Amino acid sequence: LPKLKLSAPASADCISQEQANSFFATYKLYNWSEDKKDYVVTTTIPDLCNAGDIASRLVRTNEYMKALNSFQNPMSSSIVFREGASNYFTKRIKEIVIEPAPEKPSPDDTCPPGVIAYVYMPEKDVMHICTAGFLRFDTLYMMTYVLVHEARHTEGYGHVDCNHGPYSKSEGDGSMLAACDANYESQGSYGIGAGFLLEVAKNSTNPVEKQDARSRAVVDMVQRFNKMPLGIKPGLVAQSQSGEISFFEGAKREPLTQIENPESKMTFRMGLPTFFDPLAGTVLTYSYQADLSEGEGEYAKNYVALYNSSEQRVFPRCLLWR
Ligand SMILES: [Zn+2]
Repeated sequence: LPKLKLSAPASADCISQEQANSFFATYKLYNWSEDKKDYVVTTTIPDLCNAGDIASRLVRTNEYMKALNSFQNPMSSSIVFREGASNYFTKRIKEIVIEPAPEKPSPDDTCPPGVIAYVYMPEKDVMHICTAGFLRFDTLYMMTYVLVHEARHTEGYGHVDCNHGPYSKSEGDGSMLAACDANYESQGSYGIGAGFLLEVAKNSTNPVEKQDARSRAVVDMVQRFNKMPLGIKPGLVAQSQSGEISFFEGAKREPLTQIENPESKMTFRMGLPTFFDPLAGTVLTYSYQADLSEGEGEYAKNYVALYNSSEQRVFPRCLLWR
């Protein structure tokens, strides 16, 4: 089986002319022409080695989806993997429009700040890519995650208000509307995205991609569905003075793990319980499996190396995670 590779478009890898040809044989691509003040069909990639170019990124995601086709699994809960990722996408999208980055971003733009891609239902099989938003992503699987989510909207799937979590009116900042799906099983756009991440986590042989997809899938599972899938339960994660971490679902306490240094402070990173140990300089993330995995914690390590003292008190919230 081909290996899924995490290839950052910022790397020096070039795409091949064959890959570009394969993309243009599959999709009609439109670019905004400042001269013509209109969208024009484009069939060339000016620089096959410029990974900052949106069209070349689309060629890369096309190749990534084609590679994922070999993991097609008729038994998967993910429609993307049931159909094969590239099959899924080409079935729904025939034309792609690259929307230019506005000179002065405004909420009235077709691509307001934060929007990565969108579809307009009456256009059916057309996807619009927002230049500024799309360039923020640097992994192929996260670009693909956005594309497969948006493609599902062409079939009439919308979103509903969240009944819990950071995107809900009660717990959020009140600005988020319709940022959830009712459930995972009906495979609306968030179901498509979460199912996609679960399968990438399962099939990828790249450990970074695997773990990141897994963490993102868990966060989506917890935050994006009004009926939580896979038996996920709301509750409290508690840290006792002796360093025991337990889950409390309202009536009883269930031990999860024991951290070595009770001085460790628990915080959350990407929705995952994370322990910062001010003595050892470690950052451990509990990613819903038996072991704590050590995450990136360069600041913490350097801090301990430079100012090692048990009298220092460091609070995780003051840190920039990197
Ligand atoms: Zn959506």
